[in-house]
This record gives sequence, structure tokens and C-alpha cells, in this order.
Amino acid sequence: MINFKHLEKNDPEVYNLVMQEYERQNNCLELIASENEPSEAVLEAQASYHTLKYAEGYPGKRYYGGCRIIDQTEQLAIDRACQLFKCKYANVQPHSGASANTAVQFALAKPGDTIMGMSLNSGGHLTHGAKPTFSGKYFNSIQYEVNKETYEIDYDALEDFIVDNKPKIFIAGASAYSRKIDFKKLRNIINNAQKRINYAILNDSDLLEEDIPKILEQYHIYFMVDMAHIAGLVAAGLHQSPIPYADVVTSTTHKTLRGPRGGIILTNDAEIAKKVDKGVFPGTQGGPLENIIAAKAVCFGEALKPEFKEYIENVICNTQQLAHTLTQLDINVLTDGTDNHLLLLDLRGTGITGQELESRLEEIGIISNKNAIPFDTEKKTVTSGLRLGAAAVTSRGLGIDEMYQIAIIIHKCITGSVEYFNSIKNELILQVQEICRKYPLYQD
Ligand code: PLP
Repeated sequence: MINFKHLEKNDPEVYNLVMQEYERQNNCLELIASENEPSEAVLEAQASYHTLKYAEGYPGKRYYGGCRIIDQTEQLAIDRACQLFKCKYANVQPHSGASANTAVQFALAKPGDTIMGMSLNSGGHLTHGAKPTFSGKYFNSIQYEVNKETYEIDYDALEDFIVDNKPKIFIAGASAYSRKIDFKKLRNIINNAQKRINYAILNDSDLLEEDIPKILEQYHIYFMVDMAHIAGLVAAGLHQSPIPYADVVTSTTHKTLRGPRGGIILTNDAEIAKKVDKGVFPGTQGGPLENIIAAKAVCFGEALKPEFKEYIENVICNTQQLAHTLTQLDINVLTDGTDNHLLLLDLRGTGITGQELESRLEEIGIISNKNAIPFDTEKKTVTSGLRLGAAAVTSRGLGIDEMYQIAIIIHKCITGSVEYFNSIKNELILQVQEICRKYPLYQD
């Protein structure tokens, strides 16, 4: 465990909150799909002296003196990111996933340009064009939905949708999508759509010949992939990598990748890399968090080790066990299962909402989040779905036996009245506590 002796002495109030939060985490099972438990090496790097240093700019081109060691650290993170994801260029400065997406959109599109991402209800992220965000306000955001029957990406419908709307940036990737995403197929769809758009421009007799190159440039589509959720699976070679197919790839470092809270941007294209660097600094950020960049380097180093692949295999296995047991208990798992680290429960017809289930589970020590399902008719604060993920509990050491046990507990929280739930609550709390005690958090 990290030693907080100075905090304890100097500020007992904050120290108490820090220790209470540790106790809460240690006594709960964390099934939020976007969270994880990074190594203590990652936590120590985050708390390092690098936090003191201002380093606006990039390695070798800083706007502050004293960056010799910082340059080496950031270059190490860049080199490891490129080695891990097999790409040529990496920007490791984004403070978060949202910052990475903002920087890319800022770099590649102008205000009012069309961007196209998956809708929030279909599983996309807020920063992929949702109305209340920068991406939804600053750009003309057009959203695509999953297929109404399969709840999977409707690859067949996308080409026409792209041709009709002509996005400057097409965004793939999601926050709540449990099936593999075929980036190669998406690349082909975008290429075909681009050919059709270009053909229409070249054959438009109303256009002046000298304007055509500018118009073709204006309608060039960038393919952006946000692999925030599946980055760990990609790093481990257990999900198709978007790198060979996308123009630019963003990610967080703290979900399945098990690193510090932060973002990265990857590309193989030198021109895009230059635009992205400017989009991050000075476009949308100031001084980078070099302590977090040090922790990103640690995280990439860990993900390059063979043990990381084993960890991701266990994450997928655990998630599939959870999905399988819940399905056997007649709980509707969206798309009938999962290929990755998360699953979505479709609670329609069970008599319980996502909001109610989230709070029942929290009462017994299981932490999850209510989540809209595609075409959900409930409010965003209520929802008909719940998202579950196994990355964090797998880091803690839980295996398929515990996932089976957890599925049975979740099933008991779904089925039955409030009175029934209250009558079995204490027994469920004890079961959760027993698992937590068997797999303590950061106590080696
Ligand atoms: N992209 C995706 C796909 C996400 O799921 C998330 C967060 O959950 C983000 C981006 C945003 O990441 P952050 O919370 O670090 O800004």
C-alpha cells in the first residue's frame, strides 16, 4: 500500500477521505467497465517529482528550461506507445480521453464541419458528437445507430449514410459496445463512400474546373478510431488493431490498458501527426502532466510484457463467464454475449430499471453503472440497461468461479420485489464481503 504519512500529519481531513475511499474500494467489487486497478508502479510514477515540472512543447522543442530528464521520460513513453501499438507517431500528452478526442477534432476539422460518430444510446461516447458536448456544439454532428434487430454496427447501412452526409471525420469506437469492431471493413466502407463522393464532384458540370481540387480536399474524410475501451485488448493482440486502417487513433490509458488516467493519440501519417501535435498543444491544452506521462511509460512497459496478454485473456474469459451465467439465468444480455471486457444487460421486461439495479447492487457492495441500451425509451438518468465490466476485478485476481458467484448475486438483485431484495440483502452483502476479503486491494 502507498504510504501517506505526510498527508496524515499535514491534512488529517483529506487523509481520512483518502483512506475512506480506499476502504470503500477494498470492500466493493468494481464492475464499472471503464475502471481498473493499475499497478503500484503506475501509482508511484503518478506521484513522482515529475509533477513539479512545466514542459510546454514536445521533447527537444520546449518553451521552458530544465526539461532534459522530462524529454527523456516523454520520449520513452512515445517510443513504448509506438512499439506497443505498432505505429510511427504517438502524442502522449492528452490529459484524458475527452481531451484526446477534442484535440483530434480541433486539428482535423473546422467549426461547422460535419463529424459522424455512434450515438450515445447505441454505445458511442459523448465526445463522438453528442449534443451537449464540444463535439456536438462546435461541429455539425450526425450520429449513426446500431442495427435495430442485432444491436450491432450496421455495416451495410453505413456507406450510403456517409455518402449522404459527407463527414469530415468519421468516428468509430464506443463506450458501451460488447462486440468486436471490424476496422478493416470500416476502412473499405469509407474508401468506397469517398470514391462515390469524389465521382460526384468530378462529374458535377456546375463546378468550375479550378475549384475542383479545393472541393475534393474539403470533402476528404478522416477515419478516426477511439479505442479507449478496448486498448488493452488491442495491445494484447486480442482485438483487431485499428492502426493499419484508421488515419488517427485515440485512446485512454486507464481502462483495459491499466495505466494512469489519461489519453494518447496515435497515427502512421506524418502530416496528421504534425496537425495532432498542434491540436494538443497549443490547440487545446497547456503544460503536459509529465508525472502522468511517466506513469503512461510504466503502463506501456507493463503491457509489452507477456503477462499482460494473460491478464487480458482472463478479462475476456471472466466477462464471458458473467454473460454466460446471467444468460443461463434468463437475464437478457444484449447481443447474447460479449467479445470483450464488457457486457450490457437489457432489463426491459424485468420490472427493474438500470437506475434501480445500480442502486440495489451498490447497497450490497457491487459497483456498476446504469446505461442506456440502443433505442432506449427511458430517460438517461433512469435507463433500461446496466453496463458491467471485468477489467478491474480481474486485476484484483478474481477468476471464473467468482464471476459465476457474482452472476448469481446480480440475478437475485434483478428478480424479485423490493421486499424480497431487502430480505436477502444481508446475506448478499456477506457473500460480496467474502470475495473482497479473499482478494484484497493493494495489500502485497
Ligand atoms: N472515449 C471513450 C470511448 C470512452 O468510453 C471515454 C470515457 O469513458 C472517453 C473517451 C473519455 O475519457 P475521459 O473520461 O478520460 O475523458
